Amino acid sequence: MSDALRAVQLVCPRCRARLEATTLGASCAACGSGYATRDGILDLRIGRVGAVGYDPHYFPTLAAVERSHYWFVARREVVRDVLRDAVPDLAERALFDIGCGSGGLLEFLGASGVPLAGACDAYPESLAFVRRRLAVPLLLVDEGRFPPLASGYSLLSLFDVLEHIDDDVGTLRHLFEALDPGGILVLTVPAHPFLFDEMDEIALHRRRYSRSDLGRKLRVAGFEIRSLAHFMAPLVPLVPLRWLVSALPGRGSAMERRRAELAVTPVLNGLMRAALRLERPLVRARVLPFGSSLIAVAARPL
Ligand SMILES: [Zn+2]
Repeated sequence: MSDALRAVQLVCPRCRARLEATTLGASCAACGSGYATRDGILDLRIGRVGAVGYDPHYFPTLAAVERSHYWFVARREVVRDVLRDAVPDLAERALFDIGCGSGGLLEFLGASGVPLAGACDAYPESLAFVRRRLAVPLLLVDEGRFPPLASGYSLLSLFDVLEHIDDDVGTLRHLFEALDPGGILVLTVPAHPFLFDEMDEIALHRRRYSRSDLGRKLRVAGFEIRSLAHFMAPLVPLVPLRWLVSALPGRGSAMERRRAELAVTPVLNGLMRAALRLERPLVRARVLPFGSSLIAVAARPL
C-alpha cells in the first residue's frame, strides 16, 4: 500500500472497524479481513447489494469523448467555478471523489489546482482508465453499499452518482459522517423529475431531482447548503424536442439514440459548447430558474 493510500481514512467494509495499511493492501485487526491491492487499485469489495446502478460498457465511450463533448466540458467548468466561489479555502482541502467513472472531471479539477486525495468506483473498467490518468489512491468498492470511508475528509464529491443510488438520503447521511466538521460535499445530479424518460432508464437513473427536493434531502442529512443552482439550461427545451423526434418513424432504438447523444458531432458540439459557455455567469449568480442539471455545495456545520 502506497504512502498516499495511507492518507485515505478507511473502514473495513465487513465490520466498519478502522482499516490498517499493509504492504500488500489493507487489513482489519477487528475481524481479520484482508484486502489486496492489484495494479494500484485497492479492492474493498465484499459483494454488491441490490440492483445494478450503472452499465460499465459506457466507460470506453466516456473516456473517449469527455475531454471534448459539450456536456462534459460544461459540467467540469461549472463544477470548478462553483467550487471556487463557494469554498474560499479550496486549496487547503483534498478532494475524494465517489463514483469517479473514467476520471475526466477529477483530472480537470486536479489540473485546476484542487488537491486530490483519491477516488473510488464500483467498476474495475473505470478505475483502469483513471489509473492511466492520475497517480492518486484508487479504491474498488461495492455498489449498493456505503463507501467504506472513515471520518476525516475535508472535501467529498458525487458527480452524477446520487441518482444511481436507491438510498440517496442514507448515502448523504453517511458522507456527512465521513466529513470533518466544516467539511464540504459537492454534487451534481440530473434535474426536473418531469424530464425523466427512457434515456434516464437506460442510464439506470432511479430519479431526477427538483431543486427543492435536493435541498431538503441535504438538510435532512444534516448539511448546511452553501450553493444550490441549476445549470445546462439550453438542454431543457431539447428534451421535449427529443421526445417528438423519437416518435418519428425509423428513428432507431433508444439505445442507438443514447449512443448518438454521446457522440461528438463537430458543428452541434461547437454550438452547444458556445451556448453553455454563455450560461456560466448565470450559473455562478444562481439565477437560472431551470437547467437539466443541479449542482450543490453543502457543508457539515462546525
Ligand atoms: Zn473488519
